[in-house]
This record gives sequence, C-alpha cells and structure tokens, in this order.
Amino acid sequence: MNKPQSWEARAETYSLYGFTDMPSLHQRGTVVVTHGEGPYIVDVNGRRYLDANSGLWNMVAGFDHKGLIDAAKAQYERFPGYHAFFGRMSDQTVMLSEKLVEVSPFDSGRVFYTNSGSEANDTMVKMLWFLHAAEGKPQKRKILTRWNAYHGVTAVSASMTGKPYNSVFGLPLPGFVHLTCPHYWRYGEEGETEEQFVARLARELEETIQREGADTIAGFFAEPVMGAGGVIPPAKGYFQAILPILRKYDIPVISDEVICGFGRTGNTWGCVTYDFTPDAIISSKNLTAGFFPMGAVILGPELSKRLETAIEAIEEFPHGFTASGHPVGCAIALKAIDVVMNEGLAENVRRLAPRFEERLKHIAERPNIGEYRGIGFMWALEAVKDKASKTPFDGNLSVSERIANTCTDLGLICRPLGQSVVLCPPFILTEAQMDEMFDKLEKALDKVFAEVA
Ligand SMILES: *Cc1c(COP(=O)(O)O)cnc(C)c1O
Repeated sequence: MNKPQSWEARAETYSLYGFTDMPSLHQRGTVVVTHGEGPYIVDVNGRRYLDANSGLWNMVAGFDHKGLIDAAKAQYERFPGYHAFFGRMSDQTVMLSEKLVEVSPFDSGRVFYTNSGSEANDTMVKMLWFLHAAEGKPQKRKILTRWNAYHGVTAVSASMTGKPYNSVFGLPLPGFVHLTCPHYWRYGEEGETEEQFVARLARELEETIQREGADTIAGFFAEPVMGAGGVIPPAKGYFQAILPILRKYDIPVISDEVICGFGRTGNTWGCVTYDFTPDAIISSKNLTAGFFPMGAVILGPELSKRLETAIEAIEEFPHGFTASGHPVGCAIALKAIDVVMNEGLAENVRRLAPRFEERLKHIAERPNIGEYRGIGFMWALEAVKDKASKTPFDGNLSVSERIANTCTDLGLICRPLGQSVVLCPPFILTEAQMDEMFDKLEKALDKVFAEVA
C-alpha cells in the first residue's frame, strides 16, 4: 500500500466523512486535530483554534479537564468495561442512575443507558411502542416532532428529525408527523403577533391530534431550544400553550435535553428554563462532557411505573446495548455532573450569558444580520441579504459557510447552519476568550459581507 504523505491526504483517502460539504473539503482539506488545551484545539501543524462549538456542543469542560481524565483513568484501572444485562451492572451504573434521578426534575424515576443521543431517542420510542401495546393500544405508535428539530441519525431518530436532507434515505418512516417550528421571527406571518403565532401552533397541534387520532399517537418529542436546527428558542409561551393539549389527549411529552441538559441554557435542564415538566428526559452529549459516548433515557415517575408493570407482565424488556451503562462512561458522567454543577461551570454560563448577548446585540446592528437569538451559552446569528424583508442570501453564495471558513482561517471554530452561524462554546470560557471569539467573528463577518453584500 502506497500511503499518501500528508495527514490531510491520508484522511481523505481512507475516511468517510459525515455531515461534510465535499467540494469545500476538497478545496480546504481536513483539519486533523491532535489535542486540546482548555477551549482550544490544536491541529497537526500546531495551529490553535478556539472551538466555539465545544466539539459538537458536548466538550463543555474543555479538551483537557484533569478531573475528568483522572476519573476515567481511575475507573479504567478499577473495572474497564461491563454491561447491564441479565441482572448485572457495575457499581458506577447504580450510582449514576441514582444521581440522574436526583438531579432530574422528577421526584422519582428510572434510567436506561445507550451509547448516543440517537439511540436514546430510539430507545424512548421503543419504550413507548412497547408500553402502549402492553396497555392494549398497539395502534398508539405515531410520533409527533417539529420541523427543524434534530433528534439524531438512526432510522427512527432521523425520522423524528425534521430536516429535508433525510429524504435521501427515503425517510421519515411512515407515522412520524412534523409540526411547525416555533421560530416566530422566521415563521410568524405578516402582521401576526408572537402571541397569535403561539396560538396558531397550539391550534395546529390540536387539529393534528384530532386528524391523526389521539389513540394513534405514542408521544411528542421536543428540544427545549432547538440546537442543530439553528439554535431556536421557543416563541414566548409556546410550551405553556401546547403542554395542556398534549396532556388532554394523553400524549407523553419527552424533552430531548441532549444539548440543553446540564447547563447549556444556564440551568440543569432546558425544561426548567422554559418552565415545563416532561414525562421523560433524553440526555447525552454534555452528560459525560464529551469524554465518553453515552446517552440516557430518564423516565419520570408515571412512565417508570407504567413501564415496570408492562415489563413484569412479559417478564423481560428485550432491549439494551452491549455497552449500556458502561462503568467508565458512568464514572465519567458522575464526575462531569459534579464538575458542571459544583465547580462553577453552569454558574459561568449564567454569569457570562448577559455579556454574550451584549456583544451579539452589537454585532446584529449590521445590515446583513437579520436576528440574533439564543440563551445561556447557545446562540446564533442569522445572515440576511435584506434586513427589513428578512430575505436570505442566495443559497449558492454559501454565506454562513464562508463566514465559518474565514473564522477557521482566523483560528476560530464556529458552525454554519442554514444561513446562520452558531456559537456554543465550552462552559469554561473566560471573558478574555469570549472577547477573542467575538473579535475574530466580527473580522470574518466584515470580510464576508464586504464580498457578498
Ligand atoms: C446530537 C443530538 C442528538 C443525537 O445524539 P448523537 O449522540 O449524535 O446520536 C439527539 N438530540 C439532540 C437534541 C442532539 O443535539
């Protein structure tokens, strides 16, 4: 085998890339990363980048957190791997389940582990299908989500995801129903107030339930703030308007907290920030501060009890992953929860969020920024060709990609999403690092807008 020379060429020759624009990759090459320092990553050429994406939202404690590394090392030495089948599980798994129920918004509950957020959503759907069938409603199987939602990439969680790109897989599967995205700035109609917009979405939900039949709907899934859809906080009063309708028709509400969970919005959970109580929570990403692939379904008291009854009746829940409840992942998650909640990380998010917003507000005065939006440490700037009419730039101009690429050249990683640029830095970010982030971003915005506007 004749191996090419450079890291970039070796990467491109033998690796397949997920969610990567190939023409842009061929032009720019791969950033091959060797290590990280705090919120920075360093590539094979020694270049440093401030990663304002926290990896993929998940490296909230940065890339070299000593306490997390030590927790992983210690657990690898004690007991490096086990499962949670056949009535066995590690002591770390026992402790993490207790901890997750303790920090959840629930008085009691139960936890089931997966390796990712997609699998946790997939698992939750299977739990609902199983539960409703066991309760004599085998037809209660449809899943309600929203357009622009991101719930993952497995066949089921991709079907829940409300993105047009999944059509290349022939998805969504039948029975996955998408409702209007609660983004007032973009989907509010001419002359419609935010309140009227929310009322319209509530009406749409009720009409959808009546049209499909409440007895055919297994559950409703929502991210408190949509993440990969472009950081979309709900319109004001959205959850308060839709929750009573879902309750009225006996449809379980699942909060997908894969991004929002553990501090991203400033609180432990996004549902706390937006003041609603779901029936179950999906966690991943921040759960281990990105130091281990792991997801969790956290069931509240009612679903726990109903599921227990259903499982006892057939004596076994036939589901689980080989690495579910992996002891190293659980040990890391225990440490990560402690670090985020007790070592000042969530507090740093709350402390610096106003400063974050202040800088964005200033940036959004530019004629080519339509709006800024977000909360805590998750924000987006939306580029527009025309501010008053909210007209987007021609898609062929790839404006957000150009901004992100220019940022990369300046040593800042941020993410283009549609016509917006997303900033979701690690929670350890200092004020000086925040200034660096915004100074680089402003430079990139000025350069790109001068080219395209
Ligand atoms: C990332 C994400 C998922 C999927 O998690 P994976 O670990 O990538 O499978 C699910 N839901 C939300 C809200 C996410 O952001």
